[in-house]
This record gives sequence, structure tokens and C-alpha cells, in this order.
Amino acid sequence: ARRSWRERLSGSSFARGLSSLFSRNPKLDDALLDELETTLITADVGIEASTSLVEDLRKRMHKREFADAAALLAALRKELVMLLAPVQRPLDVSGRKPYVVLTVGINGVGKTTTIGKLARRYRDENRAVMLAAGDTFRAAAVEQLKTWGARNSVPVIAQGQDADSASVIFDALQAARSRGADVLIADTAGRLHTQGGLMDELGKIARVLKKIDAEAPHEVLMVIDGTTGQNAVSQVRQFRQIVGVTGLVVTKLDGTAKGGVVFALAREFGLPIRYVGLGESATDLRVFEAEAYVDGLLP
Ligand code: GDP
Repeated sequence: ARRSWRERLSGSSFARGLSSLFSRNPKLDDALLDELETTLITADVGIEASTSLVEDLRKRMHKREFADAAALLAALRKELVMLLAPVQRPLDVSGRKPYVVLTVGINGVGKTTTIGKLARRYRDENRAVMLAAGDTFRAAAVEQLKTWGARNSVPVIAQGQDADSASVIFDALQAARSRGADVLIADTAGRLHTQGGLMDELGKIARVLKKIDAEAPHEVLMVIDGTTGQNAVSQVRQFRQIVGVTGLVVTKLDGTAKGGVVFALAREFGLPIRYVGLGESATDLRVFEAEAYVDGLLP
């Protein structure tokens, strides 16, 4: 399994940059650290995180803590794992019944795909899963979810066009309760250009869910696109002003993602990264593991 993380992450500019930096068996000097800093910044790690990481390593190098570049690389690995360890907190959906997962995030980030993958995962764990087609703004999103549900024998609660999202999700939670479902995953709209509208809508959804279960939603899972770099970071910042995000999914880390955004997110928010998307198939949505992720990036 470890090898597959590496296969998927090796194309990122993070992995390629470090590989070219260290494969030359470089001299341990300030120029190497400067290059390392540039590599991290260009890989979306973020300026602050990159700078503080490299300055720490530089001090240690000046104290002659590292015998060679390999020792520096080992220290870097340790630092990177330490950055990500606090956000490795997997989602446990077994505590409540039904466990209500509200998914949020802007259009195109892979939200619908992620819902399908999650439903598969929980179903394969022998849980009864239901979906709520709460992105009532996009007819295509409702259809996509319905088709997926039909193909995988997972019930999807939906209403007609222009239905009220909160009403769909309220009905879905009632249905999930009466059918004894274990997990309800609700989709929501993702148009950030009307922030006020989205805020009202998500607020209303949370309020109506609480009429049925005072603690619902149990997870507000925000899906972000790993290829969008610092833009993904600002999306999280914006959504956190709208709704109490409790966990993140970072998708598309396999493709053209630079790989570093996960560190920037961990440092800025400390929110649990529940899953990462390393490809388009259902099994490519992995439970986030700090060590596997870092080892997938390093040479
Ligand atoms: P939504 O608008 O947020 O609901 O986005 P969709 O779920 O429709 O996904 C948009 C595109 O991203 C689709 O083509 C997905 O197959 C693709 N996608 C989603 N997650 C991943 C991933 O982890 N890796 C890759 N390579 N593609 C992904």
C-alpha cells in the first residue's frame, strides 16, 4: 500500500523537486538549503511553513548535526511527518446512528465523486448508507448522485428541481432514522460567489438537522481540490466563516497537484485531514496517513 502512495504522488513538483535536489548527492551547504526552500515554496507548502522549516534545518546544519545530505533528508522527513501527524485523525462514523456527514465545498473540487467513494467505503464496511441530494442548485449534481446510488444499491433521497436543500436533507435524515441507516452523507451546493446565500443555506441545514438530532451534523466535511494550491487554503478560510468545518478531504493529489498544499493546510488550520484523493477510482480515496503521505513525496 505504501508503494502505491509513492506511485501516485511521485509526479508532483514536491516529489520531483526533492528527487532532483538530492539525487545529485549534493554538498551540505547554505545553497542546498536555499534550493530546498525554493522547492518547498513552489510546491505549495506556503512561504511561512517553508521558511520556518528550512531555517530550523539550517541552524542544525550549522551546528554540524548532519553528516551528509542523507542525514539532512532524514531530518526533513521527520519534520514533515511532525507537521502532518496532528491532522491525522481519521473519521469514525460508528459513534452515532445515523452518523450525519454534511459535505461542503465549491463546485468542481470532486465533492460528488468523494461522496460516492465514501458511500462505497462505508457500505463495504457493512454499514447501511444513505445519501441526500442536497445540491439542489445543480440538476446535474442530483442526477449524478441518483445514478451513482442506483448503480451501487445505495438509497438517495432527492426532491424535484429547485427544491429547498434544507428540506431535502431534513427528509433524508428522517428517512435514514426510520430505515435504521448507519450513515447519512448529504451533498450541499457549492457556489461561493453568493457567499451570503450559501451561509444562509448551510445555516438553515444545520438548524433543521438539529430538530431531529441535536448533535447533527456530526461531521462537516469540506472537500478541496489539491491542484489549486493556495487557493484551496483560502477556500477553507472562507468556508470556516460560513460553517463549522470539522474535517477535510483533499482530492486530486495524484494528477497535477504540487503536493505541498497538505502541509500548508495542516499548519494554517490544524483541521483533521480525513481522506485524500489519489485517483479516480473508489479505492483511491485513502484514509489520510501522515507517514505514508510524506514517504510518498520523498526520494
Ligand atoms: P463536484 O463538482 O465537486 O461534485 O466534482 P465532481 O465530483 O463531479 O468531480 C470533478 C472531477 O474530478 C471528476 O472528473 C472526478 O473524476 C475528478 N476527481 C475527483 N477526485 C479525484 C481524485 O482524487 N483524483 C483525480 N485524478 N480526479 C478526481
